[in-house]
Amino acid sequence: MGASRLLVSGIAWLIDFDDAAPSRPTVRSGVDLLMENGRIAEVGVGLTAEDAEVIDASDRVVLPGFVDTHRHLWLTALRALTTETDLGGYLELVAGRLGPRFTPDDIRASTYFGALECLDAGVTTVQDYAHAMRSPEHADAAVSALEASGIRAVFGYGFPVFSTSRDLADIRRVRERYFASDSGLLTMAMSPMGPSYSPIEAVREDWQLARELDLPIAVHVGAGPVARRPIETLKSEGLLAAGTVYVHGNSLPDEELRLIASSGGSVAIAPAVEAQMGHGAPMIGRLRDAGVSYGLGVDVVTATAGDMFTLMRAALVTGYLGEGSRPGPADVLRAATLGGAETLGLADRVGSLRPGKQADLVLLRAGAPNLVPLHHDPVGVVVSSAHAGDVDTVIVDGRVVKRNGVLVADGVAAAREALETAAHRIVQ
Ligand SMILES: [Zn+2]
Repeated sequence: MGASRLLVSGIAWLIDFDDAAPSRPTVRSGVDLLMENGRIAEVGVGLTAEDAEVIDASDRVVLPGFVDTHRHLWLTALRALTTETDLGGYLELVAGRLGPRFTPDDIRASTYFGALECLDAGVTTVQDYAHAMRSPEHADAAVSALEASGIRAVFGYGFPVFSTSRDLADIRRVRERYFASDSGLLTMAMSPMGPSYSPIEAVREDWQLARELDLPIAVHVGAGPVARRPIETLKSEGLLAAGTVYVHGNSLPDEELRLIASSGGSVAIAPAVEAQMGHGAPMIGRLRDAGVSYGLGVDVVTATAGDMFTLMRAALVTGYLGEGSRPGPADVLRAATLGGAETLGLADRVGSLRPGKQADLVLLRAGAPNLVPLHHDPVGVVVSSAHAGDVDTVIVDGRVVKRNGVLVADGVAAAREALETAAHRIVQ
């Protein structure tokens, strides 16, 4: 355990969101940030705190921790296996052939290492869309891996894409066994196949269970084989629920995006994977025009990199290819932090560095050659040019998980070996 008080002192560049104008990041210099018992206690000039551990940030850019709103951590073992295929090829290989080979130990190894990859790159919160829960043991393995990693996560219980049986009782068991409280570092959601990919009877059962267990839903939507108008289908069934995270949605017409907005839902986009797999045009402009809140997600490392810098850059450079108003660095950085927290319903806890929130933050090396000079537009530099190698320090819930560019966790080498062993066997 670290000190209960941590002081980040003399911050060269603090990029954050002000409650008075939360739509754009603010940049400040020369301030300090004090954390106490896992929360942000104070942000201001000349702070001191007896017996606090001090982190010198005089050559650092400090940001809220990144929030990844959509990721399948269990697929970490299949890194870069689908870089040459589209969505169809991906489903055939990953869901059809390799997914069924994952044992509970493989799920544990993949989820744990994927969470370390997140932390290493400054992703402090992740929505883990775990659509690989073939047995209670698979679910136990996924939850225990998230717990062991120290990341903040929303565990989205889901069944495999082509599975015909759904053990709904196990969702109830996991809710009761691991998630009696909704205030911990780990919280729970359901990640059902949804109206794009499963028959309406299954959709009704899944949404009913989510309501009964008081769980938010994260669900892939798009031009799936079943419902071509998934949001209208949910509306006609009376199943549009506030707090639902709709994933991708590139094929949805504007009317459906407006339905998401008016029902209090949000959208998780995966700008890199959507471009690589051919889901459709970039979404930020359309989502903004429809008034939908949105966040960014890696989705899978089978085709693209697993860090938020890659996603921010993908969103920025593809802006002109989409419809609607073009996003700038401020919009993109917001989506990667506070917007992501709003998308996951966690904005009262994370997403900005307001006193009272949980202390999740990232420190970048301001002197890294790819970031100099920073002063013209610090937000523009971070969004257009930073990379995971610039991440010096990462703090989750007031606990340092990466220090001086190195993960603090014990057993990173053993975790790598476990992942490589699993990956060899699965792909053989
Ligand atoms: Zn996905």
